[in-house]
Amino acid sequence: MDFQPDAGLDAFRVTVRAFLREHLPADLANKPVGSVRSMRPDLVRWQKILNGNGWGAPYWAQKDGGTGWTVLQRLVFDEECVAAGAPTQDGFAQKLLGPVINAFATPEQKAEHIPRILGGERLWCQGFSEPGSGSDLASLRTRADREGDHYVVNGQKIWTSYAHESDWIFLLVRTDADAKKQAGISFLLVDMKTPGITVRPIRSIDDCHHLNETFFDNVRVPVANRIGLEGDGWTITKFLLNNEHATAADLPMLRRYLMQLRTLATTQRAGSKPLIARPEFALRLARLEAEVTAIATMVKRVAAMEQDHSPAAHAMGSMLKVRGTELQQRMSEFMVEALGDYGAVAYPEPHDACLETPMPHQDVGRGIANDMFFRRASTIYGGTSEVQRGIVAKMLFQL
Ligand SMILES: Cc1cc2nc3c(=O)[nH]c(=O)nc-3n(C[C@H](O)[C@H](O)[C@H](O)COP(=O)(O)OP(=O)(O)OC[C@H]3O[C@@H](n4cnc5c(N)ncnc54)[C@H](O)[C@@H]3O)c2cc1C
Repeated sequence: MDFQPDAGLDAFRVTVRAFLREHLPADLANKPVGSVRSMRPDLVRWQKILNGNGWGAPYWAQKDGGTGWTVLQRLVFDEECVAAGAPTQDGFAQKLLGPVINAFATPEQKAEHIPRILGGERLWCQGFSEPGSGSDLASLRTRADREGDHYVVNGQKIWTSYAHESDWIFLLVRTDADAKKQAGISFLLVDMKTPGITVRPIRSIDDCHHLNETFFDNVRVPVANRIGLEGDGWTITKFLLNNEHATAADLPMLRRYLMQLRTLATTQRAGSKPLIARPEFALRLARLEAEVTAIATMVKRVAAMEQDHSPAAHAMGSMLKVRGTELQQRMSEFMVEALGDYGAVAYPEPHDACLETPMPHQDVGRGIANDMFFRRASTIYGGTSEVQRGIVAKMLFQL
């Protein structure tokens, strides 16, 4: 790994910053994201702007319609977007499904989905987890029975983020109940408007609605919507989950938290002095900053490994996920503490466009406690910390 300054990467950062300055509309910037995806109208508008600049898919190869950026360039792009307060893209389409379509789909499937992802016309959700099948995903029970040129899907998914505002879902289903459990799974793309799909909201501890239960009751899905062969679902899933290790820590988010904490350190007061004048506050902030720097170094290492297709990137990505998400939790807790009494104010959910009656300290405080609560889930989604530790142990100790 090379720690020398990289002039090419610095120039790239300047280009991204200039683009954001010119093209990120003021009314789209710095809107509270709530959890991990911006609200649909903001996301779609921003996706169209990015796509208009040829940046519709920062994570894909050029041959697939992407930017062809290196792992480090993608990290710079993410970091600058987060720092500028840009809306998110559709991570499910960009980071999970897109690479699967590019690698496994038929030309007809690519022609159907890729332009709509790039143009922000089709948003996606992920239908993997079921009650009783989360970490042990291969035990899933949602069935798809073949009837001519259709599958008939019956079952239930849970924790389906943004199912209520997505157009399509990528779904793992059991197509062979008699095969070994991994072998009987297939990967389907399903239009959320298909009759028989019911989405029920789950309101989470951050007082927001992004999670859902999704029910499938005799849902007819064309066989042509299957990716790969029948029974290939597990191989495709392993490919999908094995992408993007360097981003597992969500370094751009950690850097944004640091920026916010630095602002709170000077704007919030403890008695007559700003918080930063309190030695224990300054020390805690400095320690967090050191931890973020350590993670940034590790991210660079993992990015280099990914670029070289090193198998160790997988376990390193798991380490990043554990360290990064635990740090997210501590930093978001620290922000709530820094707000003092206002940290305990129950501001309405951050997605609400405006408050009829302004609440005290809302410009500073709104969204911070919601986010702190949401981050409790960061050590669960995308693979729990316990499971990640298992991966690391297996790799390091060759278990
Ligand atoms: C906010 C949020 C958003 C989500 N969004 C989506 C989504 O959009 N689509 C989707 O499909 N899923 C989604 N999920 C589901 C997520 O992937 C699962 O919650 C996660 O995989 C854990 O599965 P589980 O909840 O069934 O817990 P379980 O797997 O039942 O785990 C329960 C406990 O047992 C531990 N455990 C389980 N197996 C092991 C093991 N082998 N070794 C050690 N400990 C173990 C776990 O660490 C955990 O502490 C989301 C979850 C959250 C919280």
